[in-house]
Amino acid sequence: MSQSFSQVSRRKFLVTAGASAVGSVLLKGCLGNPPEPNAGAGGTSPAAQTSPVAAPAANINPADAPETTKIKLGYIPIVEAAPLIIAKEKGFFAKYGMTEVEVSKQANWGSARDNVEIGSAGGGVDGGQWQMPMPHLITEGLITKGNQKIPMYVLAQLNTQGNGIAIAGKHKGKIGLKLEGTKSLFDQLKSTNAQFTAAYTFPQVNQDFWIRYWLAAGGIDPDADVKLLTVPAAQTVANMKTGTMDAFSTGDPWPYRIVKDGIGYMAALTAEIWPNHPEEYLAIRADWVDKHPKATKALLKGIMEAQQWCDVLTNRQEMAQILSGRNYFNVPVEVLVNPFQGKYDMGDGRQINDPKMATYYWKDGAGSVSYPYKSHDLWFITESVRWGFLPGETLTNAKAIIDKVNRGDLWIEAAKEAGVAAADIPTSDSRGVEKFFDGISFDPADPTAYLKSLKIKKAKV
Ligand code: CA
Repeated sequence: MSQSFSQVSRRKFLVTAGASAVGSVLLKGCLGNPPEPNAGAGGTSPAAQTSPVAAPAANINPADAPETTKIKLGYIPIVEAAPLIIAKEKGFFAKYGMTEVEVSKQANWGSARDNVEIGSAGGGVDGGQWQMPMPHLITEGLITKGNQKIPMYVLAQLNTQGNGIAIAGKHKGKIGLKLEGTKSLFDQLKSTNAQFTAAYTFPQVNQDFWIRYWLAAGGIDPDADVKLLTVPAAQTVANMKTGTMDAFSTGDPWPYRIVKDGIGYMAALTAEIWPNHPEEYLAIRADWVDKHPKATKALLKGIMEAQQWCDVLTNRQEMAQILSGRNYFNVPVEVLVNPFQGKYDMGDGRQINDPKMATYYWKDGAGSVSYPYKSHDLWFITESVRWGFLPGETLTNAKAIIDKVNRGDLWIEAAKEAGVAAADIPTSDSRGVEKFFDGISFDPADPTAYLKSLKIKKAKV
């Protein structure tokens, strides 16, 4: 079934992922890319609610009644999690009959993976928020204990944008969005035993891809010219303060903190590298979805309504208040407010003030955010092949892997049942050609051409 992922790749992956798991035991806070609880000034904010909560389901059509009202969904306290938390807090899950949804904070990505392996019956979770292509890797048994295959379904995208590349202050003025002409600086650092060191919080998924794409676009080989590591966020910041960490790939609300605390600056927002890019996703164990198809659609309807609510910019002050609360992110509310409006002090003199640069949950300039385009799954798999995380032949079987995991069909059924406007329901599972800041295009109809067009890569194409 999955000859597409070779044993070689599996071993390689487990070695890498295993190393990160050890790190995550040593330090809590290996949370995707979040701040430490209570870090910095301000403490917590009350989860003030200023707009009405949706009324619980009163008249659900018996034919649509969910098979269960319960599910446990894991989340990492970063802006990607907003639709799950808002759907719960604003009553959108309950509106569709899912009155007992538990959203459960995960200590880090490795824990989320461990918890979905055991499922809620074993004290874990049934699904939740994921970087990509974690659901595919879990399905194929590439990052699970004993290579156990745990089929997962990708059901919706949670958000776009909202991530960036943070750089230590000592590189200010030398390293920015465009790296052309900086190879000698990276070479010099390497030759003086101070190799440029960059971190992400789980290997071979989004944050790793963003930092690699940015480096390689500017002629810096992420495998030869820099050192890339999996490091818990808290340790990364400590290391950046002491000068031993040069960069990390991060999501909001980190950019604000890094600049405010004088630790460094932001070289790039992911919105600059790839406008309207795919970010994190909702995926649930396939056995749960297969057993509870109506509950799955009820959940999706609640999340879609939450995503629409999140995209009303005048709701974002309230959204920041809810997310920053002690029971969720436990951060000062102000670290979320400006990024939610697309306002970033990049820390190197650049000021970004453009709503198009904010994170979005339902729609963006390229179409639907919520709908999980298969063409985006394919980009993540193609990029995995680019860097040698998956063998080249994976591309031959990519369609079968994606068709098994991506359930955009359920998204469309749920959207129609919820009365989503036809204009907001994509008619193709491909978003079409994607364009990056360095002039590269990804045509999902020809991923090999994309690989060929890239100068820096491991893939032999
Ligand atoms: Ca992210």
